[in-house]
Amino acid sequence: MQQIAVIGSGTMGNGIAHVFAQNGYTVHLIDIRKEALDKALATIAKNMDRQVAKGSLTEAQKLESLSRINPFTSLAEGVKSADLVVEAATEQVDIKLQLFRELDMHAPAHCILATNTSSISITKIAGVTGRQDRVVGMHFMNPVPVMKLVEVIAGFNTSADVTSAVIQLSRNIGKVPALANDYPGFIANRILMPMINEAISSLYEGVAGVEEIDTIMKLGMAHPMGPLQLADFIGLDVCKAILEVLHDGFGNPKYAPCPLLVNMVAAGNLGVKSGKGFYDYSHGGKELVVASNFK
Ligand code: NAD
Repeated sequence: MQQIAVIGSGTMGNGIAHVFAQNGYTVHLIDIRKEALDKALATIAKNMDRQVAKGSLTEAQKLESLSRINPFTSLAEGVKSADLVVEAATEQVDIKLQLFRELDMHAPAHCILATNTSSISITKIAGVTGRQDRVVGMHFMNPVPVMKLVEVIAGFNTSADVTSAVIQLSRNIGKVPALANDYPGFIANRILMPMINEAISSLYEGVAGVEEIDTIMKLGMAHPMGPLQLADFIGLDVCKAILEVLHDGFGNPKYAPCPLLVNMVAAGNLGVKSGKGFYDYSHGGKELVVASNFK
């Protein structure tokens, strides 16, 4: 495998392109928005500058890595000679299904089609293609250049050769792969999101305050970040959407998003990206101020 096409150049796509390019692969970075591509290339260069400053990359390696990344706004052009596609476009089922129909038309027959989806069924995505055996989940964690894990998800009809190839490839780019089958939330979000939901329920029921809940989980369980702060970073709308996938997929009320989470999302308190969630980020600083109106 030599040529990788990354679809979507947002938060995850730029990180995925960065890591493949740094490890010697030719990357075609594809987005429908030219400004997203420009922003991604600038972000990758800035993140590589940081690596140079830390001594984990030389200036020459940085320039070589950047020269391996080629931006495209045309999907057909960008994937026509790809060995692997990693789709990291917006998390909307209709967008993904349409993209995979097009990928199946334009990518070479041998090309593996991977998706970085956090919650959409790999089997459902594979079902719109004529190559279900070559569709797989490759779930990177944010920020991609830093986080070691790749959760590899085998769809119902993914072939063992394809999962093995993606596992090996993950190792080649310095990541640690772990394999899961395709059921709602896979493993990472199936375990993480109920924990976050339980932390929000504990707050909602008045068992403890924001700082206390986060302190207990940080210091008691050696988590680097408490669950409420982590929810703010992920985005409360994203947390709610993933819980809904778990709730719908398993039909089990234990996954229902806590009413406090539902209210916060409806009110637009989405966490870091909106300036306020369980903590207040509106002053631009990283200092955490507990937001006060939990009802
Ligand atoms: P994002 O909104 O930052 O970026 C998505 C990009 O996709 C945008 O630049 C958009 O222009 C582009 N796009 C939309 N439709 C497209 C199309 N048809 N063709 C090409 N490009 C298109 O999103 P993100 O946070 O990077 O998430 C991307 C994927 O990664 C989602 O499936 C998400 O669930 C998953 N994911 C996100 C995180 C995270 O922490 N953000 C973690 C793991 C997985």
